[in-house]
Amino acid sequence: MSCSTILKQKGYKMTPQRRLIVEYIHDNQSHLTADELISFLETRAPGINKSTVYRTLDLLEESGCVVKSEIDGHFIYHHAEEGHHHHLVCRVCGKTQDCNENLFSSVKDVLANRYGFQADFKHIMITGLCSACRKKSR
Ligand SMILES: [Zn+2]
Ligand SMILES: [Zn+2]
Ligand SMILES: [Zn+2]
Ligand SMILES: [Zn+2]
Repeated sequence: MSCSTILKQKGYKMTPQRRLIVEYIHDNQSHLTADELISFLETRAPGINKSTVYRTLDLLEESGCVVKSEIDGHFIYHHAEEGHHHHLVCRVCGKTQDCNENLFSSVKDVLANRYGFQADFKHIMITGLCSACRKKSR
């Protein structure tokens, strides 16, 4: 079910601002911070009210359209249907890439079976060397 259908079913009106926010979240595969969203909206709808944006994000989270999580002390949002991902961060050039969360499902199972530990695997930052920097260092 699309986010706009969900909002409609919950009785929320699709105001132009809400529509812009929902569209922007759909167009962005990765996550965004509220600040990134606000600076985009300021180019499209000048004079937008920041607290309206925060309220809309809360409403989208309550409705299950977006997932809110905390990373490096910032709140980030992403489209719920995208699933989570992890970050590969290059320690030399600082470039980040996303990788699929499924890659870690076996580690998650081992932690659960061996330690009885239920790991919260989302947005893990894995540092290392990116392919470009590996080539240079050879
Ligand atoms: Zn959606
Ligand atoms: Zn996530
Ligand atoms: Zn690099
Ligand atoms: Zn992430």
